[in-house]
Amino acid sequence: FLRVPRERFVPEDVRTSAYEDVPLPIGHGQTISAPSMIAIMLEEAALTRGEKVLEVGTGSGYTTALLAEITGPESIVSIERLLELEPFGRENLHAAGYEVRIVRGDGTLGFPQEAPYDCILATAGAPKIPKAWKEQTKVGGRIIAPVGRSRLSQVLVTARRVGPEKWEITEGTPCAFVPLVGEQGWRRE
Ligand code: SAH
Repeated sequence: FLRVPRERFVPEDVRTSAYEDVPLPIGHGQTISAPSMIAIMLEEAALTRGEKVLEVGTGSGYTTALLAEITGPESIVSIERLLELEPFGRENLHAAGYEVRIVRGDGTLGFPQEAPYDCILATAGAPKIPKAWKEQTKVGGRIIAPVGRSRLSQVLVTARRVGPEKWEITEGTPCAFVPLVGEQGWRRE
């Protein structure tokens, strides 16, 4: 967290709030997550250097940069659904010196081209954990995602794949993320 300059991942008009522990608007109805929320997710993820990660919801690229600090940039793929937002995340990361693979697409389908993953981490709220994510997680891997029946309130779920067909699911802190929109998520915004 000390190494990643959050002010480089927020739009100009909210830059003076960059070091408040709150989500901030990044345009197109989306938000950069609050640092404390990301910290909880990263603790749950318990990543080590070189582990393969799929991040769903690049947004500003801030979480992507934090992930890159932990695993190294080459083992991360981050997917963003919005055509208008994808360049924002990509450019922020580039300007801050993180060379991470960013793709545009529907992350509810995972990203099979680089599967399987040690961790799939989502920063948008899903109605339930997409089947595609389960298929693309290694045995020993985990999925960290906000899950809830309402679009505005979720609980943070950690799903660990402890065997080919065996999952351990734990429900953590209540949270409020923007909706995960796509084929295996919410159907529209
Ligand atoms: N971690 C980001 C959070 C951005 S908000 C940050 O700190 O900046 C969540 C993002 O998820 C939004 O950019 C939204 O467009 C994106 N998103 C929503 N549904 C998605 C999907 N199906 N695939 C990929 N990205 C998605």
